[in-house]
Formats: sequence, C-alpha cells, structure tokens
Amino acid sequence: MTIFATLSPALQQAVASAGYAEPTPVQQQSLPDILAGHDLIALAPTGSGKTAAFGLGLLQRLQIERIATQALVLCPTRELADQVAKALRKLAAQMANVKISVYTGGVAIGPQQASLAHPAHIVVGTPGRLQELIDLGALKLDAVGMLVLDEADRMLDMGFGEAILAVIARLPKNRQSLMFSATWPDEVGAVAASCLRDPRRIDCRNEQSKPQIEHYFIEATEAQKLSALAAWLCERASSSAVVFCNTRKRVDEVAGELQSLGFAAAALHGDMEQRDRDETLVCFGQRSLSVLVASDVAARGLDVKELPCVINFDVPGDADSYLHRVGRTARAGETGLALSLVAPSDAQRTLGIIERHQIKPRWLKAGRPTQPIPRAAMRSLRIDAGRTEKLRPGDILGALTGEAGLPATAIGKIDVFATRCYVAIGEREADRAFKAMQAGKIKGKKRRVAWVR
Ligand code: AMP
Repeated sequence: MTIFATLSPALQQAVASAGYAEPTPVQQQSLPDILAGHDLIALAPTGSGKTAAFGLGLLQRLQIERIATQALVLCPTRELADQVAKALRKLAAQMANVKISVYTGGVAIGPQQASLAHPAHIVVGTPGRLQELIDLGALKLDAVGMLVLDEADRMLDMGFGEAILAVIARLPKNRQSLMFSATWPDEVGAVAASCLRDPRRIDCRNEQSKPQIEHYFIEATEAQKLSALAAWLCERASSSAVVFCNTRKRVDEVAGELQSLGFAAAALHGDMEQRDRDETLVCFGQRSLSVLVASDVAARGLDVKELPCVINFDVPGDADSYLHRVGRTARAGETGLALSLVAPSDAQRTLGIIERHQIKPRWLKAGRPTQPIPRAAMRSLRIDAGRTEKLRPGDILGALTGEAGLPATAIGKIDVFATRCYVAIGEREADRAFKAMQAGKIKGKKRRVAWVR
C-alpha cells in the first residue's frame, strides 16, 4: 500500500487523474509526517515531486468550510508561484470550493489588496509581496496553521531572507512548518533553526536526478562554444533545450546568435517585461520555440514536461547550481541529457562539480554543425480573450476542429490566461488555422488573433 491510499477519496482521484501511479520517494517519505502535523525539512530537488508532496498534505489538512487563509506557500519567483498554484488547483479539482490565490510582485498591488476581501484557503506568493500585503493589513494570518517554504535555498539566494523572517514573525506560533530545499547551505539551516519546531528531516537528493541524466562535457574555447552548441542541438536535442548562461548579457548574445543561425531560440532573463517572459515561456511549452536561453533566476519557475536537454553554455559558479540547472531535465522518471561547454578557465571548477556529485562524465570533442538547423514543430497563435470571458481550451479546440475543419492532431497545447490565450498549431496547418480564426467566431464572438511565433 502506498501513502496515497491514506488520502481522502477526492485527493486519491486527483492523484489518479494526474497519472501518478506511485508516490515519488519524497512523497512516500514526507507525506506521513506532513499528514501527522509534524514540521519537516525535506532536501529534495526540483523534479522530485515535492510540490505534490506538500500540496497533498496541505489539501488533506484543510478545513474547507472555514473561509480563512489556512496555509501560506512562499516561493522564490512569480513563475514558480504560478506553477505551484496551478499544481495545487489540479490536486484540489475534485474538492468543492477550495480557493487558492497567488500574490507576487511586479504587478499593481491594488487589485491584489481588493481581492483579499474574499480570503483564499491557500495563499501562494513571493515573500516580498506577501510581506507588503500583510503590512497593509490585507492579508490576514490569524487562521494560518500551515507554512511551506518552497525552494528555500533559492529564496535566500535571491535576497528574500529578511522578508521571509518578517512574514514568519507575523504567523501564529501554533502552526506546522515545512521547508523544501534542493541544497543545504548554512543560511538555510539558520532559517530552519529559527522557524521550525523539532522538524523531521528527509533527504531525497541522492535518489533523484543522478541515475536518469547523462552528463556530457565538451572542452571548448569561447570562440568554439557557439558552433559546438549548434552542432549538439542539430544532432542531439530533438525538440526542446534550455541553454544556461551566467549573465544576462550573455543570454542576449547567445540567443541572438542562435537566432541568426536559424534556430527557433529566444532569451529569458529578469530584465524582460513580465508579459514578454510569460509569452516566451508559453511558446517554449508549446514547442513553437525550441531553444530557451536563460539566466538562472529567470529559469526558476520553468516546469516543462519532457525537457530532454539542459545545456550549460557557461559552467555555473558552483556545484549546487549545476544540480539546479540540470535538474530541469529528467523529471519524474524521464531520462535527460545535460551538456556543459567547458572553457579552459572553467576546467578546474568543472572537475570539482563532477567529483562533488559523483557524476560519470562523458567527454566529447567540440564539433561543427553538419546537419540542417531543425525548425520548430509548432507555431503559437495568440487570441485576445481569456478566462475573464469564460473561454476554455475546449472552445478554441472546438473552433479549430469544428468550423475550421483542422485535424485535432494539428493542434497542440492550449494555454488560457485572464485576458489572452495561446494555441499551438502544427507548422503545416498554420496558415489555414490563422485564416479560419480570423474569419470565424469563438464562443459566439469575433476575436483578434496574431502570431506570436
Ligand atoms: P516537482 O518536483 O514538484 O516540480 O514535480 C516534478 C514533476 O513530477 C511534475 O511535473 C509533477 O507533475 C510530476 N509528479 C509529481 N508526483 C508524481 C508522481 N507520484 N508520479 C509521477 N509524476 C509525478
């Protein structure tokens, strides 16, 4: 019997419809303690299934009839907060009337403040914005009995230490606190010591990420890196790859160079407008973009299923970041490829990383592209209407396959936002789909449509 069997029928159903046949190690090890109300420290990297571990715990322990914020989930970035909330909503899909809200920075605080007049059962957010909402008296904490610090190491890296402590200082003392972290630097230990009570501790680092990832390394001078990368992408990375660079400037340069070679590539970094960042992530998820060139911070919230390949254009500064980066591939039992381009000046550091993580390295020679540059399989169409007009994926699918007569196989992922949605369409059917969407109606109305990629 797995730990899933102890969950409520509604949660068991959600787990089944998510296709989770068995709990992951972090779920199997942490859920008994979480359900019993203990504080917990879980060393678990991204991809280990940690979100469902705490999500199932929170949802099982929630008192739905009580309309008050009972659980607070702190995340390092807006993207991760959105994803956590999305995952929680999915798990709560069979439970009636669970409200889960996200509050993060970078957008106006007024509407967030107003929405808190109707409190959510679970609030997910970034520490800075939650602190502001608490200070304004908008976010009420007196009923909070559960706290989750997700990716605690990254939150501290990003300078959220003070904000986290300020939020925690305002929480009721009688609560359950869960801390998830991929690594265990001293600062994380210090926060754990001051905020958790007699925590149980589990360590799932070794059970994850190592066996399923093949780690490749190529020695390349700065001048060789781009062609070595292009060659690898042509030969190995069939659909999607994330390429990490150490600085924003490098991100822009490498993305630009890949574009001029003909790759469906784009940059993702913190200087970009939020809307552009969102759109880039959507296109990558929809496979209209095949290469995402990213900085560490910007890629935090990235959760693309079946990401087959992660590339370090620059070797990261330390061994933990290496694990964070390559942990984005080979999630939940898939296999993945990791490639690092090692400049001569990075050789020593790379050996340190290999030793620290006991990686079995496969060294390759820097090549040059000999095959044609692969095109993206899909294109992404934006429709200027969304959830606020009650548009659902089914409406868009219906419009495309019904009136427009496209085969369902030509339509990929559909992402619905508040005022926009995006649909992936197979390259070959793109023109037909566009004309049909321009001419026809969706949910009874004409909509503005435009290609994003
Ligand atoms: P996380 O570590 O929370 O970012 O989760 C990584 C991925 O694993 C997500 O795409 C989850 O949907 C998936 N996942 C979580 N739990 C399970 C499970 N028990 N079986 C299979 N996949 C899972």
